[in-house]
Amino acid sequence: MSNHLFDAIRAAASGDAPFIRINGGRTWTYDDALDLSGRIASAIDALGIRPGDRVAVQVEKSAEALILYLACLRSGAVYLPLNTAYTLAELDYFIGDAEPRLVIVSPAARESVRTIAGPHGAIVETLDADGTGSLLDLARDEPGDFVDASCSADDLAAILYTSGTTGRSKGAMLTHGNLLSNATTLRDYWHVTAADRLIHALPLFHTHGLFVATNVTLLAGASMFLLPKFDPDEILSLIPEATLLMGVPTFYVRLLQSPRLDRQAVANMRLFISGSAPLLAETHAEFRKRTGHAILERYGMTETNMNTSNPYDGERIAGTVGFPLPGVTVRVTDPATGAALPPEETGMIEIKGPNVFKGYWRMPEKTAAEFTSDGFFISGDLGKIDRDGYVHIVGRGKDLVISGGYNIYPKEVEGEIDQLEGVAESAVIGVPHPDFGEGVTAIVVCKPDAALDESAILGALRERLARYKQPKRIIFAEDLPRNTMGKVQKNVLRQQYADLYI
Ligand code: ATP
Ligand code: MG
Repeated sequence: MSNHLFDAIRAAASGDAPFIRINGGRTWTYDDALDLSGRIASAIDALGIRPGDRVAVQVEKSAEALILYLACLRSGAVYLPLNTAYTLAELDYFIGDAEPRLVIVSPAARESVRTIAGPHGAIVETLDADGTGSLLDLARDEPGDFVDASCSADDLAAILYTSGTTGRSKGAMLTHGNLLSNATTLRDYWHVTAADRLIHALPLFHTHGLFVATNVTLLAGASMFLLPKFDPDEILSLIPEATLLMGVPTFYVRLLQSPRLDRQAVANMRLFISGSAPLLAETHAEFRKRTGHAILERYGMTETNMNTSNPYDGERIAGTVGFPLPGVTVRVTDPATGAALPPEETGMIEIKGPNVFKGYWRMPEKTAAEFTSDGFFISGDLGKIDRDGYVHIVGRGKDLVISGGYNIYPKEVEGEIDQLEGVAESAVIGVPHPDFGEGVTAIVVCKPDAALDESAILGALRERLARYKQPKRIIFAEDLPRNTMGKVQKNVLRQQYADLYI
């Protein structure tokens, strides 16, 4: 019997080498993780969970939570992590949609979750941030030598819900083959080895922290400092002992705010990686100046794992997401006709490769609509491939502004605004406008003590942007609404300013 993904993890695991280090706490070796994941897999099996059954998990980040993911792989169950911020009502939707047989939550949520999970026929067990709870009580008495379920490359390993940046989250069905191929490619592309020590400060319910960070570490036999959340001070304290950091752009913005970040602090670091949202070229440049490191930006999504990456050895170009990964085909097409576009032309990014998911959970029509007849996934992101082969993301199709019949790419306008003295960041959106269809509107966050007003910004943009791209209004805000992955929620802004011109 073979288990496509876990066999590879097992083969890379080196016995008493460290796997998870808890700051100020325990270090888990690979053997420890094998033992506990085997006992949890036995406990899951004893609860009647069979291969293909979903196991929904909404728990705080911990070593045990991560080992629970391994247990699900081993038992053939489909791992279904849920954002810890989801409310009970949201949980009810996800449980109804995914129909898990088992739901694992914090002990404090047990009773309330039971009332919603019961009607859907799911059992509820618990796991707390400190590793206690009914799940580990059950696992304690189980044997550690679990016989892994047989899983092929095509079998589901996980259902991961998208971040819900553009609408309701969709369940992406990811196979053992999707996860193993992508993690192996990334490990090799980024030269990750057993000597690496990753700082893991991302959530475990998202593709970045779960698959990119965790699977790559596992397949390299490397180790990770597992931090409950992102805390710049804690990271700066650990950085002398680490070699690798994977973060969202806000990590880097916040690290730069600390005077402790300098070349000396990062002397042992090998690589800084950024993804999940666009990294500002300014952040890339400042980080390089301060540390000597060029942050490596890559691009991916829940549905496809990672698609492109800036090179390890070649030039990492700010504002680009690098080259298609080995084995992944990326093309840019005309959104109206679907015809492939030449280099430098902006259109829809489409992706094909072993990394691309099997489809949206129980949404066959949506799945069919998001694939082309020749098998490419239509990403929903707009971008271009430049003459040197670097991929540029200009934004989401849903965020494109169409004003007076012209297409306006928000990123271009944001780039001009962000360069103005006193601007911290900006978000450009289109909202209903009686004359233009949509009116280009900029939400601007100023740096502390900056003296900027609407007319000053509009005046400065007049020289920089064609008239149709110039915002009709500038709105000042304290900050931009972001979700847990640091993504700006433009749909929230569009709703907020829906009546601006009407
Ligand atoms: P939903 O699909 O529910 O609206 P989401 O697309 O934000 O949410 P994810 O799958 O977490 O959910 O995010 C993938 C998206 O994140 C990509 O489609 C892309 O828009 C964006 N993204 C990821 N990495 C980058 C990057 N390096 N630069 C720019 N955008 C990125
Ligand atoms: Mg998406």
